[in-house]
Amino acid sequence: MDINTLKILLIEDNSADADWIGEILIEEHLTKSKQASPQVDLKHVKRVQSALQLIAQNDFDVILLDLSLPDSQGIDSIAQVKQEAPELPIVVLTALDDESIAIQSVRQGAQDYLVKGRFEGELLIRSIYYAIERQRTEATLRQQAEREKLMKKMSDRIRQSLELKEILNTTVDEVRHFLQADRVVIYRCESDQPGEVIAESITLNFHQAEESIVLNSQNLFHQLSANLEQFNLELAKAQAVQAIDDTITHRQDDIYVLAESQIRAILTLPIWQTQSNQHLQTKADFGTQLRNELEKHSVLTTNSVPVLFGAKQEKIEQFKPSSLLQEPSAVVSRRGSFDQLWGMLVAQNYHHPRQWQNWEIDFLQQLATQVAIAIQQSELYTQLQIANRQLEQLAILDGLTGLANRRYFDRILDNEWHRLIREQKPLSLILCDIDYFKAYNDTYGHPEGDRCLQKVAQILKTAVKRPADLVTRYGGEEFALILPDTNAEGALVVANFILKQVRKLRIPHQASEICNYVTLSIGTATKIPNSHLVVEHLVKMSDDALYQAKKQGRNQIIQYQTCC
Ligand code: GH3
Ligand code: MG
Ligand code: MG
Repeated sequence: MDINTLKILLIEDNSADADWIGEILIEEHLTKSKQASPQVDLKHVKRVQSALQLIAQNDFDVILLDLSLPDSQGIDSIAQVKQEAPELPIVVLTALDDESIAIQSVRQGAQDYLVKGRFEGELLIRSIYYAIERQRTEATLRQQAEREKLMKKMSDRIRQSLELKEILNTTVDEVRHFLQADRVVIYRCESDQPGEVIAESITLNFHQAEESIVLNSQNLFHQLSANLEQFNLELAKAQAVQAIDDTITHRQDDIYVLAESQIRAILTLPIWQTQSNQHLQTKADFGTQLRNELEKHSVLTTNSVPVLFGAKQEKIEQFKPSSLLQEPSAVVSRRGSFDQLWGMLVAQNYHHPRQWQNWEIDFLQQLATQVAIAIQQSELYTQLQIANRQLEQLAILDGLTGLANRRYFDRILDNEWHRLIREQKPLSLILCDIDYFKAYNDTYGHPEGDRCLQKVAQILKTAVKRPADLVTRYGGEEFALILPDTNAEGALVVANFILKQVRKLRIPHQASEICNYVTLSIGTATKIPNSHLVVEHLVKMSDDALYQAKKQGRNQIIQYQTCC
């Protein structure tokens, strides 16, 4: 035990007992070698009230407490002392040899219970030592439990959201609050690029107190950012925790740059992500497949599939500038995974130095692990959302032509039918069918047939202009166009365009009985929907018209006459 002088407060109304205790303590001290045994600084009071005053003014190591006092009796005395000094160990010294009171005393917070006359100096000193030690252990455990609770509270708040921006903003706010720092930022470190502040929390007091800084805040922060950017790049390379209590007294040139930027104390912690090779491989394969599928159907717009991060691995190192600056920003660990520096958590104090406590640093390192997990989850979630959107698109597309498929046709036609019942506007449907397509396949082969279908699909895409128009692959070599708010005349214009454009393609078709090139037969129908009819009625009308077109010699358009 690292106590040189044992400061003891004895609360004892019986002077004879007090004298005796004083004597055995001093005797014990004298019998031991001076190095081994601490000096005893004993203060004695007779009442709890006087004790409470002394406790407030002194820094005692232990209290020796009699349980029968003039102003307080038994367990009450313990409670009163505990209330004044919860962390001060109490050893009860009493004449009462009563097991149940002894137990109650311990439950109330006393560390030990000794019966007067039954102990001598050595036992008393040992009891005092143990009491102090137990009290310390209890305090440490309590502190640990409190920190764990705080960690849970903070990380729960951080992990509440799956939105990256929100996660990072909550993190900087929580950390600034926890450290009572002036400013906390998160730097995103991309390899080969300068770091970038992606979340920031600044104390309001800082703005209020520093008028000049408020006035020049733009300039100052730009300058700070520039310096810090540089500084963080170096830290990123160092991949380490850095705690500087005072930049002015710190003996390192690059740190002095911070002092010039008015940053007096700074704490930086890396946020690590671990990338497993295997994991990346799987994701990349999945992403590539998806991309290929979508590119094939030209539905992929701007979103690429982001790289995923694997499980997080904590990494704690001390800052060693010269040796570590050479290290690469991604290292392959023994488990065959990449430890990737995702970013840096940076806390700063302006104008005043700040002693960063070891436990605070440990605490924040643990928190950084939680933040890394939250980031990873948010990235996975984003990836999942993108994949889901892409899969949704795949589910409504025809694989060969990239047009909407039959399922989507049914859905949209039904929607439009009901919408236009309300609006009382016409809905047109065009059905197109390639003439003698079976013979085409038989002559040129199925793959060539596929290419022919794709070419016709391209023409159909260019035939519609309005956002609400929809071109779909209706069946094998049949296509359907839904044209909301389009009358029979309008539908005929579109049908004519299609017929002519396909003819213009001049796709050779030797087996056709009507032309040397691929041609279409087209049936159109138009109807102002009403609730007495079902949408299938419109489909039947255009199908009948198409049938007529076939019957009358193909390569032509027939409008369903009894429309509207
Ligand atoms: P009609 O002039 O009366 O329309 O005769 P048709 O031969 O075009 O019509 P039929 O319904 O007898 O044959 C349609 C053919 O379309 C049969 C089928 O092999 C072909 N087909 C359907 N889907 C595909 C496809 O995805 N690719 C290819 N290459 N052929 C297809
Ligand atoms: Mg057909
Ligand atoms: Mg056909």
